[in-house]
Amino acid sequence: DAKQQGRNTWQWYGDNVASLMSEQVEMRLEMQEAIRDEQFLLHYQPIVDTRTGQVRSVEALVRWQHPDKGMISPGFFIPLAEQTGQIVALGRWVLHRACQDMATLFADGEADLPVAVNISPLQFRRTGFLEEVEQILAATGWPPHRLEFEVTEGVLMSGTDRAIEVLQALRNLGVQVAIDDFGSGFSSLRYLRDLPINKVKLDQSFIHDIINNRDNAAIAQGVITMAHHLGLKVVAEGIETPEQQTDLMHRQCDLLQGFLFSRPVPLEQLKKLPAHLPEA
Ligand code: C2E
Ligand code: MG
Ligand code: MG
Ligand code: MG
Repeated sequence: DAKQQGRNTWQWYGDNVASLMSEQVEMRLEMQEAIRDEQFLLHYQPIVDTRTGQVRSVEALVRWQHPDKGMISPGFFIPLAEQTGQIVALGRWVLHRACQDMATLFADGEADLPVAVNISPLQFRRTGFLEEVEQILAATGWPPHRLEFEVTEGVLMSGTDRAIEVLQALRNLGVQVAIDDFGSGFSSLRYLRDLPINKVKLDQSFIHDIINNRDNAAIAQGVITMAHHLGLKVVAEGIETPEQQTDLMHRQCDLLQGFLFSRPVPLEQLKKLPAHLPEA
């Protein structure tokens, strides 16, 4: 039928405005179904202590297991969900599931790890966001100080007064906040100085060739030194080689995340990861 046909073809549209629009309409419907039918799932990626490799926390990363299209990457559907507003419902689901999963791990004596959850600008700015957070924490019994939000510079840029208010309220609740992908957008040093945040995540683009590119190394070093003077911890994302790990250790980076230690994995696999990575 027509619906079935639409489903299988939307990915291949995009050569003109009309088909691009129908692709987005199709996608919106598919995402609505996906939220209802629980096609979304979370993977978790460990974040380790730079010196010891000890797993210190995990980041929750959403995946879409589509019934016919297979696994769809968040780099593709998150921007769309932001455009349609569906990120609000999806984000609520993600937060609830992440807290619930971690509470279960803890209750089963498997792990006691803080969890980081990505929050989109729309979600963050919405009235009722704080109440939603409090409600989810209460429902799952997950302690606020074991929850961290990752926000991008986009969250902070738009309506800075409101952003400061929400950040301050989160701090009062005990929820930690990290600036994600730092350096990738219109990063302002004012954010580091003025906002109540705990952590900076250095964007992968600086890490990827940190060994061979002196400019990237200089920026990484600068951010690390500055963040430390401001009382903030630094995470380097996208660590894939032991050379990158050693380099960032010499630069006093606090925490590392990347395929060298582990890819994002389902909860069942997370349970089986050793407490130190990579495994000796
Ligand atoms: P992010 O928050 O910066 O997450 C890190 C991304 O880098 C993840 O991609 C992760 O799989 C990938 N990554 C980790 N280590 C390495 C590495 O060593 N090498 C390389 N090449 N990549 C690495 P992923 O899972 O595809 O997510 C992409 C983005 O989608 C995230 O970037 C985040 O902005 C967004 N996202 C994911 N889940 C959520 C969510 O639940 N809510 C919101 N609002 N956004 C999400
Ligand atoms: Mg993140
Ligand atoms: Mg990031
Ligand atoms: Mg990113």
